[in-house]
Amino acid sequence: MKKVKQAIVVGNWKMNPRTLAEAIDCAKKIARNIPKKSPKVILAVPAPFIKDIHKAVKLPIAMQRISTEEEGAYTGDVSAPQGMSAGATYTLIGHSEDRARGATHDIVSKQVETALTLKLPFILCVGESARDKDGTYLETVNEQLHSALKKLAPRHLSLLTIAYEPVWAIGKDATKVATSAECLEVVISIRRFLSDVFGAKKTEGVAILYGGSVSPETAKMFVKEGGVQGLLVGRESLKPKHFVHIINEVAQV
Ligand code: PEP
Repeated sequence: MKKVKQAIVVGNWKMNPRTLAEAIDCAKKIARNIPKKSPKVILAVPAPFIKDIHKAVKLPIAMQRISTEEEGAYTGDVSAPQGMSAGATYTLIGHSEDRARGATHDIVSKQVETALTLKLPFILCVGESARDKDGTYLETVNEQLHSALKKLAPRHLSLLTIAYEPVWAIGKDATKVATSAECLEVVISIRRFLSDVFGAKKTEGVAILYGGSVSPETAKMFVKEGGVQGLLVGRESLKPKHFVHIINEVAQV
């Protein structure tokens, strides 16, 4: 597998904005200001907006979660085939907000299996909720990787992107901003996991992203010093000027 050639910046809009009109406006403001030599920019938008945003802008669209199942009696779920038929070409899997609401290791691993069956590229989110001095957080992340990727064969590696998102650094309740050294330590551990399971050469092309309160001020630092090939951005991706600023910072690394 070739090395990661193009950095990736994902905007995770979560359950925002309130209306389709606002969503289209935000997507257009982002799309029209992306620099020519840009990282790959993916918008993870709420399911009801996928189709219209896909029509409005030429950016890849991600689902924020997929059902473990492809169809059936699962009220409230959105299936991967449904999202794909509306224009999504990626999905997030295992976001910490989803895990906090009940997405167990087992569910995450079934979601991965579904994405693999459908050949849907996915961004697997992993990250510890707290840090301790003994380095247990590295084991937590390893366990998440191990259980999520147990059905992944080397031929599937091109579908995989990993986002390291320490839960303590995500969202407005973040306890602190992570440092690039804190990011790098876990990224090295993730690379070691990939290389132990699939081989270093075969996994060189798997991009690892960082997510957790990334701002225009910290974006470049994470990519330059944190060992990642891109970013997963929450709140700031809903502010077109800030998000484009982040994209520009990544483009310059
Ligand atoms: C996220 O939603 O994955 C995220 C990183 O959010 P924020 O950037 O707001 O911390």
